[in-house]
Amino acid sequence: AVPLVVAVSTALSAQNGLLIRNRASFEKSRDINAIVFDKTGTLTHGKFGVTDILPLGEYSENKILKYAASLESYSEHPIAKGVIKSAKETFNVENFKAIPGKGVQGIIAGKKVEVVSPGYLKEKNIPISNENLNELSFQGKTIIFVIIEGRLKGAIALADIIREESKEAVQKLKDMDIQCIMITGDRKEVAEWVAKEISLDKYYAEVLPHEKAQKVREIQSEGLIVAMTGDGINDAPALAQADVGIAIGAGTDVAIEAGDVVLVRSNPLDTVYVVKLAKSTYRKMI
Ligand code: ADP
Ligand code: MG
Repeated sequence: AVPLVVAVSTALSAQNGLLIRNRASFEKSRDINAIVFDKTGTLTHGKFGVTDILPLGEYSENKILKYAASLESYSEHPIAKGVIKSAKETFNVENFKAIPGKGVQGIIAGKKVEVVSPGYLKEKNIPISNENLNELSFQGKTIIFVIIEGRLKGAIALADIIREESKEAVQKLKDMDIQCIMITGDRKEVAEWVAKEISLDKYYAEVLPHEKAQKVREIQSEGLIVAMTGDGINDAPALAQADVGIAIGAGTDVAIEAGDVVLVRSNPLDTVYVVKLAKSTYRKMI
């Protein structure tokens, strides 16, 4: 039988946009000392728009965008959706492949084309020599690069929007002595900008998908009880690793399946309610 207070809290949580999938984990929410947020799609809307196109070779802005959109039309990533929106036409693509946490690649008219992260450029020792890039980064923009046959041909900057409630969520969690940490695959400059905007305690940038769960484990090994909030396929292992996995309702099915609690309204402020509800529910039961 379900104790009465728990039954009442279930009704309350439903009313307030929480879906509790794992009661034992939800109970641990009252004791958390740290909450790890994914950036894209969790603290931000995950809706990118192209703001700048920077040719770095013989191709025009339009061509750069066309090459990128051709590959991105096979990707489900929020960045991909932003690129596709702004392109009018695409090339035919063969041998499409996603490079998890780094980008996408494929063959266009016999040439190998890659659309990738700054980290990937570093890894392949492809130098970037344009001062404009620094300008873009300081505005907190995400940058992807178009590489054709191993040569850098252009950069595309995209902007995402921080969710209105993210800052208030962080403030309220901090007031409860809960450390607020962000984890992202995006570049350091973007992470730093978001972290400042919403006053996070700490952030980890350029984290590859398979490293996210490892980061949660590291934080746990400092003796902290950790909640993880995320929306993406790449967040699922970290959601499972955390003491409390909190999935964003608008996120991917894979993330929701891995979550102990689902934020039905996709509002980061509801994480505060998770903690408060857990505290009040289980206090009454003692
Ligand atoms: P996050 O942790 O912020 O959700 P991801 O791990 O999904 O980010 O992606 C990390 C980085 O990898 C992105 O910022 C981008 O530079 C690159 N990337 C991932 N997928 C794509 C894609 N489809 N097209 C271009 N770049 C991508
Ligand atoms: Mg995400």
